[in-house]
Amino acid sequence: MTHGISEVVERGMCVGCGSCAVRTSGAIPVTIGRLGVYEASLAGATSGQIAIASKVCPFSDDAKNETVLGDERYPDLDHDTRVGRYLDIFAGRVTDDARVLGSSSGGLTSFLLEELLRDGHVDGVVHVGRGENSELFEYVVSTTVEELASSRKSAYYSTTIADAVSQIRGDGRRYAVVGIPCFIKAFRLIADQMPDLETQFTFYVGLVCGHLKSQFFAESLGWQADVPPDSLARMDFRRKNPNRSSSDYDYEVESHAGERRVRPTSSAVDGKWGYGAFQPEACNFCDDIFAEAADVAFADAWLPEYMDDWRGMNVVVTRDRVVQGIFEAGTARAEIEVERLGVEDAADSQGGNFRHRRVGLAVRLADDIRAGLSVPSKRVEPGYAGVTRRRRALIRQRRAMSRLSLERFDVARRASDISLYIRPMKRAIVQYRVLDALSRGVLSTIRRLLKPLGTKRSV
Ligand SMILES: Cc1cc2nc3c(=O)[nH]c(=O)nc-3n(C[C@H](O)[C@H](O)[C@H](O)COP(=O)(O)OP(=O)(O)OC[C@H]3O[C@@H](n4cnc5c(N)ncnc54)[C@H](O)[C@@H]3O)c2cc1C
Repeated sequence: MTHGISEVVERGMCVGCGSCAVRTSGAIPVTIGRLGVYEASLAGATSGQIAIASKVCPFSDDAKNETVLGDERYPDLDHDTRVGRYLDIFAGRVTDDARVLGSSSGGLTSFLLEELLRDGHVDGVVHVGRGENSELFEYVVSTTVEELASSRKSAYYSTTIADAVSQIRGDGRRYAVVGIPCFIKAFRLIADQMPDLETQFTFYVGLVCGHLKSQFFAESLGWQADVPPDSLARMDFRRKNPNRSSSDYDYEVESHAGERRVRPTSSAVDGKWGYGAFQPEACNFCDDIFAEAADVAFADAWLPEYMDDWRGMNVVVTRDRVVQGIFEAGTARAEIEVERLGVEDAADSQGGNFRHRRVGLAVRLADDIRAGLSVPSKRVEPGYAGVTRRRRALIRQRRAMSRLSLERFDVARRASDISLYIRPMKRAIVQYRVLDALSRGVLSTIRRLLKPLGTKRSV
């Protein structure tokens, strides 16, 4: 059976991107759900509306996959199964330290967006910035360099494109659209089906993604810094700390009363990305790390040679010649500095991501098929081949922790008692750590180390 948008919604794997709302002019509404993740509702839609929406849903089998979208737009470029099509791959950052500190990594995403705007390649940018309503972040439309600058840094937060795209549709202007891989896929799919939007979306700017977070993630970090959800006014997920490595960053939270707190992200119970806390179910079915349908993808340079530098650095994969030209011109003016990398370096910078999105995905698909559940067809074969029993247990524990975090945080927030979330989460983390050690063979290593001592004593 085809896994269409109905199965996506039924199985709770809607990421809330809003492409279905755009395609059906709102007949399929996308609203924030109980677990802090946007989700579509098909209840009032006709079968015809569901059918056209299914073609633009990034988790539906009725939609083109990332390989097809990449092949269509970049047919002449080299291809790698991990990175997708690529023109150039490099590490880099903006040279102005003040600017780089205001960005998540090397600041090259903001640099490119500013140049696209300044050079007249686009009239505006559709990206995630500070929310004006009750939400901390939302998709916004920036038309000036100043507006762009006020929305830098990563938003680990569930949002939807529906309102922003409705706002610009038909205004006769050209836009760069920014998003994590599934959102880039959503933008490309609606452009594919809606010619008016195809002419408006002129550049697709991707952010490499480990997984998205429910809005609960911001609330949890705030609460752990003594700012409960109803007092939370502002969140900065990526505050750089000169005393630590670039991957060991802080977060800063501000309450409605104006109190600010800064904490190391690693000090929060859910701060480690490997735990999968607040990860929507959709991310368990994603196999795209380098936003393969985007003209350019930006990552953090999680490579040993760059991580010691607390200021941060990007890994960049380009797929478009205009974008490439902007980086070359920026290098010639010494506004940015870059170092060529190979495709292996890019893949190495996302090691954990590939374990989750490729090895983990094969196991999750096989598990769900075995349980008689509908799954989307992915570019990864379902199965357990080459995955040890212990590794499988770790993959399942991580998935369980994502569910647990969402459910228990919902309970904690209703009861205004964070311990109802923290306690079960800590227990699950202990189990995860044991499984992690087992899967890495740590215990057998310890046993091996202890054995000669025991032997000596018995002699
Ligand atoms: C949910 C999420 C998960 C990520 N996971 C990884 C990962 O596992 N590995 C990795 O290497 N990198 C990951 N990244 C990318 C990384 O966090 C940086 O965003 C990236 O390196 C760009 O940094 P920069 O300094 O160039 O961007 P900046 O100069 O800070 O600019 C960022 C730009 O992106 C826009 N933006 C921020 N968040 C969003 C969003 N959610 N949707 C749309 N636009 C947005 C901002 O408005 C701004 O224009 C993730 C990003 C997100 C949002």
